[in-house]
Amino acid sequence: MLYESTRNKNISIKSGEAILKGISGDKGLFVPSEIPQIDESFLNGLAALPYSKRAEKVLSLFLTDFTEEDLRFCTQNAYTPEKFGTEAIAPLKKLGGGEYVLELFHGPTSAFKDMALQILPHFMSCAYKNTSADKKTVILTATSGDTGKAALEGFKDAENIQIIVFYPESGVSDMQKLQMATQEGGNVYVCAVKGNFDDTQTGVKNIFANDDIINGLYKKGMVFSSANSINWGRLVPQIVYYISAYCDLIKENQIKPGEKINLCVPTGNFGNILAAYYAKSMGLPVGKLICASNRNNILTDFINTGAYDIKRDFHATSSPSMDILISSNLERLLYDISGRDDSLVTELMHKLGTEKAYSIPANMLGRIRETFAAGFCSESETLSAVKDTFNKYGYLCDTHTAVAMHVYNRYKEESGDDTKTVIVSTASAYKFPGSVLEALMGEHNINGGFLQAEKLSELTKTKIPANITGLKGKKVRFSTVLKPEDMYKFVLDSI
Ligand SMILES: *Cc1c(COP(=O)(O)O)cnc(C)c1O
Repeated sequence: MLYESTRNKNISIKSGEAILKGISGDKGLFVPSEIPQIDESFLNGLAALPYSKRAEKVLSLFLTDFTEEDLRFCTQNAYTPEKFGTEAIAPLKKLGGGEYVLELFHGPTSAFKDMALQILPHFMSCAYKNTSADKKTVILTATSGDTGKAALEGFKDAENIQIIVFYPESGVSDMQKLQMATQEGGNVYVCAVKGNFDDTQTGVKNIFANDDIINGLYKKGMVFSSANSINWGRLVPQIVYYISAYCDLIKENQIKPGEKINLCVPTGNFGNILAAYYAKSMGLPVGKLICASNRNNILTDFINTGAYDIKRDFHATSSPSMDILISSNLERLLYDISGRDDSLVTELMHKLGTEKAYSIPANMLGRIRETFAAGFCSESETLSAVKDTFNKYGYLCDTHTAVAMHVYNRYKEESGDDTKTVIVSTASAYKFPGSVLEALMGEHNINGGFLQAEKLSELTKTKIPANITGLKGKKVRFSTVLKPEDMYKFVLDSI
C-alpha cells in the first residue's frame, strides 16, 4: 500500500518513507491510498491473541513494506508487560451499565502517547534499514504536555536520532514539566516556549518549513522528522487499540459478534479520535464517534456547524493536553470526507492560515455528522465528572478522561442512544494530582505534586505509578525558556 499527501494525491511513497519524513514537502499529511478492510473472522482471530500479536496483524495491513519479522520485532519490543505493567497493555474495564473504560495510560510515562511512541522509534529504525537512508534524523516535537515526555522516553539513546522537544512554559502541569526537565539520555533536548501550545506548534511548523535551516541540517548529514501525530507512524498504532478493545468485548461476552459500539474520545489535536475513525472505516462495528472537548471547544463548534474559526480566546484548563485550537489531524478527516479532494484541502488549510477560519460544504458536514457527535465540558464540569465517576463507580480518572465522561453522559441523556460505549482514558490521574485532588476534596492547600499525589493515593486507595514516584529528587537537566521566534536558535545549538 502506498501513501499520498492530503495536499497532493499524486505523491506516492512507501509507509517507511512516510514515517521517516513525518510531513510532506507540500505541508500536507501522509495518508494511506486506501483503507484496508477487516471482517468478523479477522476480529475473532485476533480475540485469542495477546496485544502485541493483535498489533502485528493490524499494522501489517497498513505497513505493507515492512517485513513480517520487522513488524514482529517492533510490536514485541514495544508492547511488553514490563513496560506497561500489565499483560493486557491496554486493559478494558467495565464501569457499569453499558459503559467501559479503555485504559491507555499504563506505559512508561502514564499517558496514552506511549501507545504510539513506544513503537515509533522501532518503525523508524526498520524504515532506515529498508530505505537505506544515510542521514541522521532530528525529531522536532511540540507538546501540550504528554507527547514530549513519551517521545523523549521512546527515543532516548536511539541510534542515529536526536530529539528536541518544545513545550509551552505555562501550558503544562508541574508533573509534566518535571517529567521532561529531568529526562535522561545523551540525544535529548528540551526547551520551554513563552506562549501557548498553538504558538509552540506553529514555531515547530515554521522550522520545518525554513529552507535555510533544512539545508544547513542536510549539509551536516541530518534531516528533520516529527513525533507529533502529524506523523503516520504515530496514528497507525492508535488504530490497534480500538480494534483490540472490540476483541476484548467479544472475548468477555459483553457484545454479540457484529454488534455496534460507540467510542468517546477526549480530543485535542484530533489524532486519537481520527484513529478511531480509521478503525470504523476498516469495518470495525462502530456507531457514533463522540468527540469530547474541554473549554477550548472549537471542534464541538466545527462538528455542529461546519465552520472552523480560530479567532477566539485560548483557555488554559485543567486538561492541558487538550488545550489546542489548531487540530492538525482534522486535515486527514477533511481529505477523506471530501472524497480525497486535495485541492479543496489545500484551499481550506490556506484559508486557515490567512483568514484564521474556513467552512466546509454542506454535503461534507452531513457526512461528518453521520459519524461524529460532539460536546464540550466546562472547568467546573470537569472537576464534577472526576468526583461523580469516583463516587458512582469507585473509579479514579484524570481530568482529560473526565471531560470524556461528562460529554458522554450528556450525549446519552440528550440522544437517548444507549449503545454500549467505550470511553477512552488517556492519562493517569497522578499526572494531574492538583486538579484531581481539588475535584475530590474541594479547594485544598496541599502544594507540590508529590504531596498531592500522596494525598490522592491515601484518599482513593490507588497506587502512584512508579514512573511518577521515580521523579522525586531527580536532577533537573533542562531549564531554557525562549520566545517562539527564537526557537530555531535552540535547534541550531542542539545539533
Ligand atoms: C494528547 C492527549 C489528548 C488529546 O489527544 P489528541 O490525539 O491530540 O486528540 C487527550 N488526553 C491526554 C491525556 C493527552 O495527552
